[in-house]
Amino acid sequence: MLAKKYLGQNFLIDQNKINLIVNSIPNIQNSIIIEVGPGTGALTKPLSEKAKKVIAIEIDFDMIKILNEKITNKNFTLINKDILDLDWDEIIKSDYKNIQFVSNLPYYISTKIMFKVAYDDRFNSMSVMLQKELVDRIFSKTNSKSYGRLTVSIGTLFNLEKKINIPAGCFKPQPKVDSGFIVLSRKKIDFDLEKYLFFIKCSFSMKRKTLLNSLKKSNFKKYELVKKYLEENKIKLNIRSEEIEINEFIKIFKYINKK
Ligand code: SAM
Repeated sequence: MLAKKYLGQNFLIDQNKINLIVNSIPNIQNSIIIEVGPGTGALTKPLSEKAKKVIAIEIDFDMIKILNEKITNKNFTLINKDILDLDWDEIIKSDYKNIQFVSNLPYYISTKIMFKVAYDDRFNSMSVMLQKELVDRIFSKTNSKSYGRLTVSIGTLFNLEKKINIPAGCFKPQPKVDSGFIVLSRKKIDFDLEKYLFFIKCSFSMKRKTLLNSLKKSNFKKYELVKKYLEENKIKLNIRSEEIEINEFIKIFKYINKK
């Protein structure tokens, strides 16, 4: 079977790593797993043997045929759809508890999918395979080139539970770069998730520009309040978003929403 490069098909073939990944999903026996891109089922099959339920979304009909033959467990549901066209409400029922997201992500849309999961707090955790560069971006520090929207959004909403290095040789076809599998559990937050993620998006809308300029360019409504926060806290008005720690972003957000 030929892998479709344009669909980001790099299949996991290392059984050792597959076991490590599946065993790293917290509380799997009681979980409803939502998996994007099951492919030929390298993760899906062992997941469906351990989890309460697995719902997998796969765009490629060639994979659907293979999966339906390979996985016959009753707790397995397969949906042939583009994840970007799917509304979570189509698959998540109101009585579902302990929903966990798992994916060896198709790399051409990995950040889009991660945000789609981050925005919905019904997901208790997000366990994903990413290219190493993206793992580094998520855990980068202020003032580095890779510190940005992804770092602050994910860092605010999730704790890192586990990180497994996955060398390129564990996949077929072999990608050009190494990968990492990270297990993230959702933190409890006491503010509006959607509004916060929008604020962070606006804050990083212009690369290497000041926070105030980025917010102004994005027509962020509470611009004046952010400016007031900086003044009151004696923070330079030309501070760049890359210089601001995650905790400070949370403080600014809480301040502008109290006013
Ligand atoms: N889970 C398998 C594994 O670990 O071997 C395959 C992972 S492969 C990196 C990514 C999978 O995502 C492929 O099966 C691909 O067809 C699927 N995919 C790509 N784009 C998709 C999309 N927009 N919606 C749903 N699935 C997609």
